[in-house]
Formats: sequence, C-alpha cells, structure tokens
Amino acid sequence: MEKINILDYTKEELTKVVKPSFRAKQIYQWIYHKYVDSFEEMKNLPKDLREELNNRYTLKPLKIVKVEKSSDGSKKYLFRLSDGFTVETVLLPMKKEEFDEEGNRIHHTRYTICISSQVGCKIGCSFCLTAKEGFKRDLSAGEIVAQVLELKKDNNIAQERRVNIVFMGMGEPLDNITNVSKAIKIFSDLDGLAISPRRQTISTSGLSSQIKKLGEMNLGVLLAISLHAVDDELRQKLMPINKAYNIKSVIDAVREFPIDARKRVMFEYLVMKDINDDLTSAKKLVKLLHGIKAKVNLIYFNPHIGSEFQRPSQKKVKEFCDYLIAHGILCTIRQSKGLDISAACGQLKEKTKMEIS
Ligand code: SAH
Ligand code: SF4
Repeated sequence: MEKINILDYTKEELTKVVKPSFRAKQIYQWIYHKYVDSFEEMKNLPKDLREELNNRYTLKPLKIVKVEKSSDGSKKYLFRLSDGFTVETVLLPMKKEEFDEEGNRIHHTRYTICISSQVGCKIGCSFCLTAKEGFKRDLSAGEIVAQVLELKKDNNIAQERRVNIVFMGMGEPLDNITNVSKAIKIFSDLDGLAISPRRQTISTSGLSSQIKKLGEMNLGVLLAISLHAVDDELRQKLMPINKAYNIKSVIDAVREFPIDARKRVMFEYLVMKDINDDLTSAKKLVKLLHGIKAKVNLIYFNPHIGSEFQRPSQKKVKEFCDYLIAHGILCTIRQSKGLDISAACGQLKEKTKMEIS
C-alpha cells in the first residue's frame, strides 16, 4: 500500500486522524520546527504510535534530483515527486547578512523561496517555458509545503528565521486553489512553518473568478497579478487566458480583493523588446491602475531556447519605470537573480532534458 503524505494534512485534519488529538500538535512541531526525517525520532510519542505512523505515512514526498547554484547565491532545486514527475523550487537570498562594528549579527540573510503549484501549466502563455510542456497534474498541499521545508532543511535555515514565499514557480496557483489554500494554512500555522500570510504572495495570470474566491477565503496573503500588457489585443496574444478573463475583469477582481492597509497589490509586467516596452504602454498602465493601491514590478524577459521574444534594453526599462514613478505609481525593477542558472520559470527542467537526450 502506498504511504500517505502526512504533510498533506492541516493541523485540524491531523487532529481528526491521530488520537488523542494533542498528538497532532506534537507531530507538527517535530516535522516543521525540529525538522526530523523520520517518525522514529519523535521521541515524545509512544512507540506504538510511532510505528503506526511509520506504516501509514511518509514525511518526505520529494527527492532532490539536482541543485544548481548561481553566482549570485540563488539556488535552484529540481525535485522528483513520488510518481516520477519533477518540479522546481528556487531559493533567493534577497538581503545579505549584516554585522555591526563589534561583529554582532544585525540580521541573517533574508530569503525568498519561489515555489511551484502544478506540474506544468494549462494557461499556455507564449513567453513561458513551463507552458511548453503542457499540464501534467496539480501538486497536493503536502507537495507544495515540502518544497519550503526541504529548502529550509537543506540550507540550515532555522525554524524561527523569517522567509518569504512566492508562488511564482511552475503552474498557476489559482488553478489549484483547493490545495494551494490548504498549503497556505499549513505555512501560516504557528506549529507549522509559522510564516505570516503577509509574507506569502500568490502570483496569478488573472483568473478573475478565482481571485474573487481567494479573496473570500480571507487568508491574508498578498496578491500579484501577471499583467504584462495593457490592452486586451496584445494580452490575448501573450496570454490566452485573457479571452476568458479580460483586463477589466482582472482589475475589477483586484479592486474587491481584501488587502492589509499597509500593503499593495503587485502588478508584474514582463518587459519584452519592441512588444510592450514603450512609453505609450506605460501611460496606459498609469490609467489602468488609477485608484488601486498598486506597485508595479518590471521583469526583464529572460530568453530561452526557441523563444520568440527578446530581452529589452536597460535604458527602456528604466525609462518605463521612471515614467510610472513620475506619475505616482510605485515601481521596482526585478533583480534578475539566478540568470546564469535560468531561475526564471521552467528552465532547469529543460536543461536536464537536453542533457539526457
Ligand atoms: N502562473 C503564475 C505564477 C507562475 S509564473 C503567473 O503567471 O503569475 C511566475 C512569473 O514568471 C510570471 O509573472 C511570469 O510571467 C514570469 N515568467 C514566465 N516566463 C518568464 C521568462 N521567460 N522570463 C521572465 N519571467 C517569466
Ligand atoms: Fe502558466 Fe504562469 Fe507560465 Fe502563464 S506564466 S504559462 S500562467 S506558469
């Protein structure tokens, strides 16, 4: 009999399957705080319970196949799932550790972990490598959670250290909203990974009805919209999902989304040379975001083999950003981390495939 992944359970669910129920909290803390690799190590559980758990459950649903380290410190992991499919996860050091003059640590390195929510993706954006392999399946909540847990373990990131999570790896998180929302609960649980929902960002291609649903769940997470174009005609060419959910419907859904008063909705804008890098687009973007507490994140298109688009010039991206700022819109340019290991989207797998063939 195949073992069940115990990471698939929220604490509430685990309470219902292990008795007495306080054991669920203990098991959670062993897994997510003390990072044990086996039930045997859960010393405050009775021996027969440990054995029973070991017979029924696994707590390691992912196997590391490959790790690529970039010169800027980011690391890209390729994981194998129990049925042989693979997904990738990226560890991004966002801020280096700092010490004061006496050598005392002011803060540790701050990490962001970029996770996958599906094997492949149904949405089919023309610029995205993940789209090219089609859709295989949704990840379970436990497979999503395990990506963060395994990266924390593998990099000796202590339980209490803050990490940020972005659902910007493979897949469309809102196309797997049931498992993604469960994973968010496990991440947020203080006996789980204890990551504040305000440090978790869901990036979506703009499934308006699902944005509404996520908003109604009121999980407290942040929202990022992959906008990439300011008129429907171009957006439809880049992202076929725009036929079902046009720009207006996405903006309307964003307006209703509950966000923390101190936070903003992020709009990702992938800048492609001669496609959407002009100031007329910037002007339209300003208009589009009128009245929304937004911030724009400009991303350089990261070319991959066979891609029809090109990286824009630095000058154009800067001009675009300056225009937005001059017109009252917060804008940042995403540091392209891990470029030398293709840490953008689906590219490690492509390389592995090529090495094999
Ligand atoms: N499906 C979700 C989340 C995963 S994609 C979404 O689309 O938002 C995460 C981000 O990677 C998206 O903003 C996407 O546009 C971007 N991306 C895809 N291909 C890219 C490429 N070749 N270069 C740079 N960013 C890319
Ligand atoms: Fe899917 Fe996002 Fe890639 Fe589009 S950009 S195909 S939604 S993973």
